[in-house]
Amino acid sequence: MGKTKHQGPMKLPKTPDPKHWVSMVPFGLGKVKPKHIRDTAKVVWDNKDNLPYATRILTQGVCDGCALGVAGLYDQTLSGPHICTTRLNVLRLNTMPAIKDDILFQDIDELKKMNSSELRQLGRIPYPLSRKPGEKKFTRISWDEALDRVAGKIKTINPKQLAFFLTARGITNESYYAAGKVARFLGTNNIDNASRICHSPSKTALKRSLGIGASSCNYQDWIGTDVLVFWGSVASNNQPVSTKYMYAAKRKGTKIIMINPYREPSMDQYWIPSIPDSALFGTKLADDVYQVNIGGDIAFMNGVMKHWFEMEQKNPGSAIDRRFINEHTNGFNDLKGHVEKQDWSVLEKSSGLTKERMLEFAQLLAKSKSGVFVWSMGLTQHRFGTDNISQVANLAMLRGFLGRKHCGVMPIRGHSGVQGSGEMGADPFVLPGGDFDEKNRKRVQKLWRFEIPDWQGDIVGVTLENAVLPEDHERKLKVFYTSGGNFLETMPDPAFVEKCLQNVDIRIHQDIILNTSTLVDAKEEVIVLPAATRYEQAGGGTSTSTERMVYFSPEIKGHRIEEARSEWEIYVDLAKRVKPYKSELIDFKNAQEIRNEIAKSHPMYDGIQHLHKKGDVFQWGGAWLLEGGVCPTEDGRGNLLPIVLPELRKPEGHFYVTTRRGKQFNSMIYSEKDPNNNAGRYDILLHAKDCEELGIKEGEAIVAYNKYGVYHGRAKVDDTKQGNIQVYWPEGNVLIPKGVYEQYAGIPEYNTAVVVEKAETFHAKKDTKYVERRIEELETELS
Ligand code: SF4
Repeated sequence: MGKTKHQGPMKLPKTPDPKHWVSMVPFGLGKVKPKHIRDTAKVVWDNKDNLPYATRILTQGVCDGCALGVAGLYDQTLSGPHICTTRLNVLRLNTMPAIKDDILFQDIDELKKMNSSELRQLGRIPYPLSRKPGEKKFTRISWDEALDRVAGKIKTINPKQLAFFLTARGITNESYYAAGKVARFLGTNNIDNASRICHSPSKTALKRSLGIGASSCNYQDWIGTDVLVFWGSVASNNQPVSTKYMYAAKRKGTKIIMINPYREPSMDQYWIPSIPDSALFGTKLADDVYQVNIGGDIAFMNGVMKHWFEMEQKNPGSAIDRRFINEHTNGFNDLKGHVEKQDWSVLEKSSGLTKERMLEFAQLLAKSKSGVFVWSMGLTQHRFGTDNISQVANLAMLRGFLGRKHCGVMPIRGHSGVQGSGEMGADPFVLPGGDFDEKNRKRVQKLWRFEIPDWQGDIVGVTLENAVLPEDHERKLKVFYTSGGNFLETMPDPAFVEKCLQNVDIRIHQDIILNTSTLVDAKEEVIVLPAATRYEQAGGGTSTSTERMVYFSPEIKGHRIEEARSEWEIYVDLAKRVKPYKSELIDFKNAQEIRNEIAKSHPMYDGIQHLHKKGDVFQWGGAWLLEGGVCPTEDGRGNLLPIVLPELRKPEGHFYVTTRRGKQFNSMIYSEKDPNNNAGRYDILLHAKDCEELGIKEGEAIVAYNKYGVYHGRAKVDDTKQGNIQVYWPEGNVLIPKGVYEQYAGIPEYNTAVVVEKAETFHAKKDTKYVERRIEELETELS
């Protein structure tokens, strides 16, 4: 942990620099790019019924969009306003009225015809609801009825049959903390959060390699570092204000490198609305792009290290920071031996990059005195996600890019709540202040004054699968309590997920809006509880940004939903109903009491208790974790780990497929068109040569399929790596196998291999297959 404090916002240069402009054509006329002014006007129109409240949220609240982090309109990185269309789009969730009764209580089959975007636009959930098997409509129930029924059921089951999940929808640290504590109070460790499907491997890998579980550096370290690498991350689209930081970095001479199978247009060039010369003429962001195969990053990084070891052989000190290695790491010889054994032809085939290209990157990093690695789902959402991130840590350690200014490793987060969710203990592997291990369990147990179960809780994917276990299995899921989340859209194999959701006795959806998962039947009852947003939470709430800034978001006066309650309060109320005889052990009276307890249970969060007004913020861990190279591991050293190349399962004639995001906020879709490349949600992005070989034309109906699913779309010729295709997420989840988890962090695998065919060929073949089937098989099906 570092002693140095963050220095506070910096200023942008006042004069423009045409060197970085995209073109002299003003406002990127004629180019495919987001239309910020039009989008902003639409948001104003959408919020016209509640504009004063919307303005107060924007000027006083902490953004409930991504985890870049901003309080009101100002952040800790650069002076000047900080706002983006992602935040503006999410704003309506906070300002819209409740769903009208005639819509809410219509036939469930009518509601089921709507997709999640349409359900979202209906409005907020106004009061507790229930729906039992055979009932065609929701029924309004009271809070007492709802919570008594849930509590009654929990009392009858084995705590291992109870599970909680919390998404990242604007949820505050206070609510995550209360949920984590309540779950353990009720005897279960089955509690998980949305990071399971995004950055769980980042935390697991950083922990094993460096002893940390979060970004080691700040966004300010981007500005002036020699090289800033975005690895499988489209920060310009998912954390839009990051483009402002990238602009500032370029103005200080930083080289920006993008490593991605698709040459993401928004990382290539961007028109940053709040910077006049960029808004007018655009900014070239990436200086170079390495188009790696999907899943080829480990090979690429091994190739880079192999070059370094060869450079060192010829010219010692030319590539590796020997001092850092000697003073701060373990495992150098094992790693070197492992990498030197690698075969160049295998590394080239796996990565999709030539030895020469790997050398270019190796040389660039070798001559850089500082560097920051930023990554996202492109590295984490693999069955070898933890290994991917440990490779990044290997690179950072070998170059000594850690624990000092302009250096670091940064898993950039996509949702404002998600960094805090694990840190607060809403995670089966974590308790506040540390891992779920015996030492920490005993420490927290002493503070909480009740026994914390000692068995390992399940990750959310396994929890869902537990719903289809036999009735008498001790882990058969019987009560599933989910705060937000739409598993039908975020997990692989939606048909299987639906079956799991239906197989739970009681499902509780604590949320602000309906989504498609809320409407799925349950065996005994679906209970829907109306949650308050972070801005409605009494006593305010905090959230933690990617760079570990803990921001206080005050309660904002105005608009309220009839019966919506603060989420932490609902958990506490439920716990007291299940165990009224121990209620004093879980009795938080207000959000401040929770913050006081967080400060005690999580030493890094000491300081959160003092946050109580707009703009209050502190950064846990100081400016740089690992300051001076000291790692919070047992021996204070980082671990260099030899990483084995993953087996990439791509049979002959198949393509790798991965998923990408368009105009959306996590799984919430805001436009059918991706403003960065003009693609529709069902467009499949293919390389021109692949299209040529398959005889596929732009815009033609095509099918991507494998044994898990069939995806119908249209061909879009684009600059993706040959042999690799891209589909939009979550639509593309039908192609992803279920039950394939990364072995250390439990993230589902979101990449696979598919065959791509013209739709007419696919359908013709399907008919042939049907005709060719034996008569007996058809008869069996009919009987
Ligand atoms: S970049 Fe992220 S934190 Fe900043 S305004 Fe946009 S959504 Fe909010």
